[in-house]
Amino acid sequence: MCTLPTGITPDQQAAAEQALLRFADQFDPHHLAKLAARLRETLTTIDTSPGGHNPHTDSHTGELTDTPTGATLIHGELDAEGAALLRTALDSLAAPHPATDATPDRRTPTRRRADALLDLITRALGAAAIPTGGGARPHLTVTIDWNTLLANGTIPALTSCGLPLPHSVLTRLSCDAEVSRIILSPAGMPLDVGRSTRTVPAHLRRALVARDRGCTFPGCDRPPSWCECHHCVHWTHNGVTALHNLVLICGQHHRQVHHDGWTITFTDDGHPAYIPPWRIDPHQEPRRNPYTQHPTDLLTSAI
Ligand SMILES: [Zn+2]
Ligand SMILES: [Zn+2]
Repeated sequence: MCTLPTGITPDQQAAAEQALLRFADQFDPHHLAKLAARLRETLTTIDTSPGGHNPHTDSHTGELTDTPTGATLIHGELDAEGAALLRTALDSLAAPHPATDATPDRRTPTRRRADALLDLITRALGAAAIPTGGGARPHLTVTIDWNTLLANGTIPALTSCGLPLPHSVLTRLSCDAEVSRIILSPAGMPLDVGRSTRTVPAHLRRALVARDRGCTFPGCDRPPSWCECHHCVHWTHNGVTALHNLVLICGQHHRQVHHDGWTITFTDDGHPAYIPPWRIDPHQEPRRNPYTQHPTDLLTSAI
């Protein structure tokens, strides 16, 4: 709860406290805090905005705290302008994504907001406008034992912050990634450095965009610019980086495919179709995304 500004008269203070007591009977804590902030802004005579008489320099603070479970807690404070920008950006991305066949979006509102924040960050890092650091565009860097990547090792993969990554996350991240191979001596000294590119080359991505026209997950309307490339058979399991093993998919649905057990198959005419996990569809019917189908296909397609 915010405090009243200094410099107000005793009468103003009494009136404000009376008003807050009245509101407390009628509103929940969330709305009460908003009303208190409005009251405070009405009574203050000092401009606390950036560039004002007495800027409130602590109004943009953020703290990241690592937890023992390998997650990170975000705690921060934004002023009204910053909060409005953040909410505008997140609200447009955090809407539920129900599939057209009435499969509901099972994510909670908080999970949807967190996914939206990740989408936003991924897109920002992928944009050319982001400044380069150390000669390479800033992306997530993961250090991993080769056997862990092939799923039979026990040494966990680590992010550049030193936090371990679950194997399913690692599989998703390495779907379309640049891999640097560094062989270490038993004493931990680099013996050899190689580089193999596992990224989907630009010409192949253009072909994918022409075929898929956006996220291929059933019911999704995200355009190609929001999409990542997914290897249906992962390259660590000898899946090839070729059109018949790749799909365009948005970040949220890429997470869903890797973590919730969706399977991707291809129709006879070469288009991707999704088979839900058994708990969602015991009949295991493959389904295509009608949003990205040609109108003529919609009339003739069986799935
Ligand atoms: Zn993937
Ligand atoms: Zn999608």
